[in-house]
Amino acid sequence: MITELVNPATEQALRTVELTDVDGVDDAIARAKIAQKGWAAAAPAERATALRAFAAAVDAHVGELAALEVANSGHPIGAAEWEAGHVRDVLQFYSATPERLSGKQIPVAGGLDVTFNEPMGVIGVITPWNFPMPIAVWGFAPALAAGNAVVLKPAEWTPLTSIRLGELALESGLPEGLFQVLPGQGSVVGERFISHPGVRKIVFTGSTEVGTMVMAGAATQVKRVTLELGGKSANIVFADCDLEKAAATAPYGVFDNAGQDCCARSRILVQRSVFDKFMELLEPAVKGLVVGDPAARDTEMGPLVSRKHFDSVAAYVPDDTNVAFRGSAPSGPGFWFPPTVLTPERTDRTVTEEIFGPVVTVLPFEDEADAIALANDTEYGLSGSIWTGNLSRAVRVSRAVDAGNLSVNSHSSVRYNTPFGGFKQSGLGRELGPDAPLHFTETKNVFFAVEES
Ligand code: NAD
Repeated sequence: MITELVNPATEQALRTVELTDVDGVDDAIARAKIAQKGWAAAAPAERATALRAFAAAVDAHVGELAALEVANSGHPIGAAEWEAGHVRDVLQFYSATPERLSGKQIPVAGGLDVTFNEPMGVIGVITPWNFPMPIAVWGFAPALAAGNAVVLKPAEWTPLTSIRLGELALESGLPEGLFQVLPGQGSVVGERFISHPGVRKIVFTGSTEVGTMVMAGAATQVKRVTLELGGKSANIVFADCDLEKAAATAPYGVFDNAGQDCCARSRILVQRSVFDKFMELLEPAVKGLVVGDPAARDTEMGPLVSRKHFDSVAAYVPDDTNVAFRGSAPSGPGFWFPPTVLTPERTDRTVTEEIFGPVVTVLPFEDEADAIALANDTEYGLSGSIWTGNLSRAVRVSRAVDAGNLSVNSHSSVRYNTPFGGFKQSGLGRELGPDAPLHFTETKNVFFAVEES
């Protein structure tokens, strides 16, 4: 079976891709099991060198990978280059792991007790369409570094950069079968990862709806899971902050990647005493956002990924919606949706549901307690921002908001050397940071009896 990919900025046919069937998945897993044994047995320095060579191959192809993402996903070229460079950086960061994955020596009576961090075996990574490269590498780099093999299933709409990364891995010298990219349907390839006993862990990033099914399926084999799911994050703006900066940066906190970002700060909560002033400052910032051809250097926001997703986002803003203001978007072919600002009631579905597009709601709050209650009034808990000039308030509020990744007076949330993941229904487990490789190992404790002399 093949699928035809479409350039979301032009609606032109881009390329066809062959989809993997169940037999193809089973063959890949069989090859991965063999490759993993050899990989785990190789000297740590050899594995480190191989991962650095993979990183170097990615570095040499940043331009090509970025161009593929522009065409396949509509990401602005500057963002796509950052994403490809991020793959290199994550590989480099975890290339240190094989030589540093030391267990513990624990003092016990009668002998020597040590722990080993054993690789799990074959890891299945399932990615969504919104950030194909970064999300893939967050799974495969630490998994490989910890001595595992990886089978990666990219999302149906955006497989091209993942396929190229699979080729670059081989070209750089990684053993055949160690890292395989299997384009295909979630209901075929994804589900086979879950049902196949040879896959020992699933790293799933996607919707909370599918994530709960993945977790339920994995439970039948006590298969390990890491889940990175949806979000409805709050950007909390207190009256005592640098309001100009908070308003100028708010569009980038939510409209990055056309709002197709699990960390999008899609609920802006503003203290009532500065609400009108904030809206006055926000309007030119939203209208000034450069929306257009993703291949152009000055573009800040591209199209939505597909017609189907466009329809899903548009359904949240029917014609009779009371829109506060909107930015621009090209007309003509392409799945263009303008940055859109709404000021609905707290209970409106635009406030409670993840829209995953360039639509933001702005709500007033009364005081610190109200802001925290409102921020936490969601089943999600992935990300968020807090804007205040008061350090004590920044500490209090960042401890009180139930989310895995917060930033104070900025919208930063992802660094490869710090942990990333969600509270509540935004996920389970953490990716990135110094501990990620450990999540791809089993701890083995061995006691060596020592005879008295
Ligand atoms: P999705 O859940 O529809 O699909 C994600 C992946 O799962 C795709 O590869 C899909 O083919 C696969 N899949 C679908 N059905 C499956 C099944 N039955 N078994 C196994 N795999 C299956 O999500 P999407 O629409 O691609 O991505 C958008 C969602 O991802 C949003 O909710 C967003 O918040 C979330 N997301 C979360 C993070 C995070 O790190 N927390 C990052 C990016 C995206």
